[in-house]
Amino acid sequence: MLRVNFFGHNQEPKILCLGAHPDDIEIGCGGTILRIIEEVPNADFYWAVFSGNEKRINEAREAAKVFLENAKSKKIVIHRFRESYFPFVGASIKDGLEKLKREFSPDIVFTHYRNDAHQDHCLISSLTWNTFRDHFILEYEVPKFDGDLATPNLYVHLNELHVRKKIDFILENFTTQKEKPWFTEETFRSILRIRGIESNSPNKYSEAFHCKKIVF
Ligand SMILES: [Zn+2]
Repeated sequence: MLRVNFFGHNQEPKILCLGAHPDDIEIGCGGTILRIIEEVPNADFYWAVFSGNEKRINEAREAAKVFLENAKSKKIVIHRFRESYFPFVGASIKDGLEKLKREFSPDIVFTHYRNDAHQDHCLISSLTWNTFRDHFILEYEVPKFDGDLATPNLYVHLNELHVRKKIDFILENFTTQKEKPWFTEETFRSILRIRGIESNSPNKYSEAFHCKKIVF
């Protein structure tokens, strides 16, 4: 397996993380973010969440701060678009992304999977592609009731410490979600283990992404 080092010549990459709801970025690519900060400490992060009520917004902000604690440079923005109604306010969300693009030119964009069954996730993915036209975009996965997981094609290996931190940070910060039966350590660890098996991860675990286009 050829291993790709995305940051070989760029030790100050600009990384954009987009999530429809509080906790999406953390669930989809939290381990990868932790690994990037460890390996490329000068990375510059822009972290944007597009919805949340008062409580959820606080959780999102605190969780982002914890995940990005050791990042040299970061900006965290939480918008207040109405959850579950994104397709009906798409124009305003698109305006927000266009504004973001004028402010921050990312080397990597993490966004939702384009075939994600949640309408908010799907819209953010679609607007990501239509706003960032010359960028490297990785789509993360969010396990859910809809059963919309597909076969990813890009893997980021994680070790036990990344996994431990990712899960602890999620469970400690998103306390409003604890009543959801799926919001458990088991859920978060099991998908990482499966993706680890698929990518032959030496430390058992991996996050996985859908990469539509890669240019060498
Ligand atoms: Zn979500």
